[in-house]
Amino acid sequence: MKGLKNFLTTKRSKSAFRPSAQRLKDYKDVVIPRNEPESIEQAGRCMDCGTPFCHWACPLANYIPEWNDLAADGHWEEAYRLLEASNEFPEITSRVCPSLCEYSCVLGINDEAVTIRENEYSVIEKAFSMGIVKPRRPYSRNGKCVAVIGSGPAGLSTAAYLNRLGYKVVVFERDEKVGGILRFGIPDFKLEKWTLDRRIKIWEEEGIIFKTNVDVGRSYSAGSLLKEFDAVCLVIGSRRPRDLDIPGRNLKGIHFAMDFLSQNNRRLNGDNISEHGLIEVSGKRVVIVGGGDTGADCLGVALRQKAESVTQIEIMPQPPESRPPESPWPKYPLLLKETSSHKEGGKRLWSVLTKEFAGCGKVEKLSCVKVSLSKNSNGRICMEEIKASEFVIDADAVIIAAGFLGPEPDGILKALGIKLDSRGNIKTDSKYMTSHKGVFAAGDARRGQSLVVWALAEGRQAARGIDLYLRKKAD
Ligand SMILES: Cc1cc2nc3c(=O)[nH]c(=O)nc-3n(C[C@H](O)[C@H](O)[C@H](O)COP(=O)(O)OP(=O)(O)OC[C@H]3O[C@@H](n4cnc5c(N)ncnc54)[C@H](O)[C@@H]3O)c2cc1C
Ligand code: SF4
Repeated sequence: MKGLKNFLTTKRSKSAFRPSAQRLKDYKDVVIPRNEPESIEQAGRCMDCGTPFCHWACPLANYIPEWNDLAADGHWEEAYRLLEASNEFPEITSRVCPSLCEYSCVLGINDEAVTIRENEYSVIEKAFSMGIVKPRRPYSRNGKCVAVIGSGPAGLSTAAYLNRLGYKVVVFERDEKVGGILRFGIPDFKLEKWTLDRRIKIWEEEGIIFKTNVDVGRSYSAGSLLKEFDAVCLVIGSRRPRDLDIPGRNLKGIHFAMDFLSQNNRRLNGDNISEHGLIEVSGKRVVIVGGGDTGADCLGVALRQKAESVTQIEIMPQPPESRPPESPWPKYPLLLKETSSHKEGGKRLWSVLTKEFAGCGKVEKLSCVKVSLSKNSNGRICMEEIKASEFVIDADAVIIAAGFLGPEPDGILKALGIKLDSRGNIKTDSKYMTSHKGVFAAGDARRGQSLVVWALAEGRQAARGIDLYLRKKAD
């Protein structure tokens, strides 16, 4: 039995990264996982406090103190059973989740938080190595069929949940492989794709049917969908990129982040890309417009493609390094993030507005100006250009990573006449049903661009809504 006060004697210790010089030569995972004794020691730092705010902060409401406690005693199987009870995909969250839970860890009030995400990784990877993560087919099928449109984390979570309840589930994906942004957005150095394939094989053995290269609403009609399935879940992501409507936007050499990232992931997968469509930044001066996580992923890929220089610019001011007073514990604070890619190189500029791209046929320069933000009397944020702060950045390639505007309104949404909310996302009721009866929605398409852990949680909620709807219909 672990000691109850291990947090007093054991300091927080995170996994190390492989050295930059080594990891920039490949796309393998940057993290060196901790060994088992270290994992047990770190899990033992959890105080198993009476009111676990980590559990409240995790969108999946993972049973964090309980599986930490079990892991600390080396009861890996029991820890895994508890983890899988609330999370369909712990091997993914434990690699890419920004650990919302850790900012609410009670130990974090006056000490360093428990390494919850990494402890989650220890539990699930130990379970795989013990051979206890096995397909579990439902005892019986209930005769009802559900179509899941989109195979990102939200779709996969909906499908896994409904399949276990006995529904026949068919997942339609328009890409050539399953996974959504996990497969074609997030680079391998954060998430190696064998991790996805390992789980998808288990789900196939559990009976989920995956149909790839099917663009629902185009290559497979909305009419057939409604006729062939008892319920439908739209988990199509939020894929309309925010563009920069400024002079020079049509110059060559300016690309959207997802085009750059997805092509790179496809090339790593062995796909041949035609010379004409190739986005390669080797030897180039690259500017990434957008200071968020997607921009950071582009930075890591550009450095691995051997760009001459990479500059990441962001319109917002640099966030603080420690918790600001307006986000007291246990709230999630907006802090300066230094990802593994930032540690590898590149330059970051904050409070920068891009006013124009210039060049002769292809982009050569960005004209920028520094901006300051302030709140007006109505509390609205206003942006002002700082006088005489104009400057120019030379660039051979620009990658726009300025966020996403919502799901594509054409195709399946138009065909089914689905209503959108004021932000352009799919509108649903509290049970995740859209304006079309029997058609549900979840993930980024409903919530707006968010996180994997939220997509998984939404997928579960939509599955519960579908189950309730089909049960009521059967009564
Ligand atoms: C580059 C990048 C990096 C990110 N990194 C992280 C990270 O490290 N951690 C984190 O928590 N979050 C991260 N995110 C956010 C996270 O990936 C998303 O919030 C999450 O993938 C949303 O899941 P989803 O299932 O709703 O949508 P998606 O993952 O976008 O999946 C939607 C799927 O639907 C398919 N589809 C769309 N229309 C149709 C149709 N008509 N027919 C058939 N299929 C269709 C698409 O092809 C796609 O596969 C990142 C996002 C990006 C863009
Ligand atoms: S899924 Fe994310 S928020 Fe939830 S326990 Fe894991 S790391 Fe924490």
